[in-house]
Amino acid sequence: MSTYLLEIVTPERKVFEQQVDMISVKGVEGELGILANHIPLVTPLQIGPMKIKEGGREHWIAVHGGFVEVRKDKVVVLAESAELPDDIDVERAKAAKARAEQRLAIAQRSKQDSVDFRRAELSLHRAVTRIKVSQRQW
Ligand code: ATP
Repeated sequence: MSTYLLEIVTPERKVFEQQVDMISVKGVEGELGILANHIPLVTPLQIGPMKIKEGGREHWIAVHGGFVEVRKDKVVVLAESAELPDDIDVERAKAAKARAEQRLAIAQRSKQDSVDFRRAELSLHRAVTRIKVSQRQW
C-alpha cells in the first residue's frame, strides 16, 4: 500500500509526523477517509477521535476542530488542540465533562443563553472525545 506523510499540528506543538497508509477524520460533512494520492482539498473538522492506519497498526488521536488539508506531498491536520492517548489526563477530562454537564443543565433551565449552551456542548464533546481516546473505546 502507498503511504503518505501525515502531520498533525496545533498552535502549541507538532503532535504527530509520520508516514501513514490511511486516515479517517470527522469532517463537517461526515466521515472522510484519506488514502495516498487523494485529490487536494481543505475541509473543516469536527471534534472527535481520528483514526490512523500505519503498517497494520491503528492509532487514535483526539482532534478538537480545525482543518484537514490534503496537499500533493502530504496531509496536514491543523487542529485547535489534539492529543495522543498517552498524553491525555483522564481525570482532567472527567472533571471538564462534569463541569460542562452542569453548565448545560443550567443553560437548559434558563433557556436564554444559547452562547453558553453551545460553549458547554463543545466542551462536553472535547471531554468525551478525550475520555474515549484515552480508554481506546470508540
Ligand atoms: P479544560 O477545561 O480541562 O482546560 P478544554 O477542553 O477547555 O479542557 P482546550 O482549550 O481544548 O481544553 O485545551 C487547552 C490545552 O490543554 C491544549 O493544549 C490541550 O491539548 C490541553 N488539554 C485539555 N484537556 C486535556 C486533557 N484532559 N489531557 C491532556 N491535555 C489536555
